[in-house]
Amino acid sequence: MPEKACTNCHFITKQNICPKCKSSSLSDDFGGLVIIFDPENSAIAKVMNIKEKGTYALKVR
Ligand SMILES: [Zn+2]
Repeated sequence: MPEKACTNCHFITKQNICPKCKSSSLSDDFGGLVIIFDPENSAIAKVMNIKEKGTYALKVR
């Protein structure tokens, strides 16, 4: 399974359903991987409204 990005929360997953928000709206057309280690202290996480650590896509089309 190729990696896909959730169009809702931008989480990167190889599953058919996003494990974070349970959305089945996933796209293989994404760019800019960002790895969030510490959402509490990450400016990017705040901008993207990320609450949990993980790998996310900056842009999902
Ligand atoms: Zn999601």
